Amino acid sequence: MWQEKLDRDPKLRERLAGASGMSPIRTTDDLSAFYRKSSGPGWMLIGDAGHFKDPVTGNGMRDAFKHGRLAAEYAAPVIDDPELLDAAITDWEKQRDRDTLPTYHWGNRETRPQLTSPLAQAVLGTFAGTEQPGISDLFNRTKYPEDIISPPRLIRGLLATLLARGADRRAILAEVATELRYEVEVRRSRYFDGFRSRRVAATEHPGWSVGKAP
Ligand SMILES: Cc1cc2nc3c(=O)[nH]c(=O)nc-3n(C[C@H](O)[C@H](O)[C@H](O)COP(=O)(O)OP(=O)(O)OC[C@H]3O[C@@H](n4cnc5c(N)ncnc54)[C@H](O)[C@@H]3O)c2cc1C
Repeated sequence: MWQEKLDRDPKLRERLAGASGMSPIRTTDDLSAFYRKSSGPGWMLIGDAGHFKDPVTGNGMRDAFKHGRLAAEYAAPVIDDPELLDAAITDWEKQRDRDTLPTYHWGNRETRPQLTSPLAQAVLGTFAGTEQPGISDLFNRTKYPEDIISPPRLIRGLLATLLARGADRRAILAEVATELRYEVEVRRSRYFDGFRSRRVAATEHPGWSVGKAP
């Protein structure tokens, strides 16, 4: 698995060239993000059991706590009425998805094994010298990632990259095409239901599969 990761990240492989590999490598082997169907008659899946995203987001515990607590708050008032209870936990699952999807996509995008492109650098560079909390708001979840790294910021970064001396405009536009697909997907799944279990989301890593329903 380590070799496979290195093959996908030439820069890292270059930095590790000649390393002796003296100690055994310890790793969590599969950090693929997922959603599972998380509620049904008389049952719910809480925390990582129902939804997991790459730890780079630093949000797994927050989501396990928050939506564990909300699960109880949804269920408690109707615990003795099976029909109302089933409806309540279905609602609970929907609000969990709405709350966690932006971070899920963000985690998928952040963990693509690729170099930080001039475009990404320019977009992040638009934060330089501002007093706004900006990027830290991603981690404390007071704002959605796509609202912080917003379309105006993307356009400013794009213009800066295209106008830079020696810019590889073909490569930049190819990257824009991919990122545009992701931007549409992120917003689509935020505003419309039905993102998961039916198909693979655009942000998911190559080779990822939704798997078969049990
Ligand atoms: C490498 C890594 C780094 C992370 N870093 C962060 C971070 O910085 N910040 C953050 O917020 N989140 C982070 N997370 C995510 C966070 O750890 C999880 O989202 C969170 O622990 C989920 O809580 P949980 O209670 O749902 O599941 P878990 O914490 O996994 O708890 C499930 C428990 O159930 C037990 N169990 C499983 N099967 C059975 C069974 N059959 N019988 C009895 N017990 C069983 C397991 O042993 C485990 O103790 C990270 C995750 C990983 C993998």
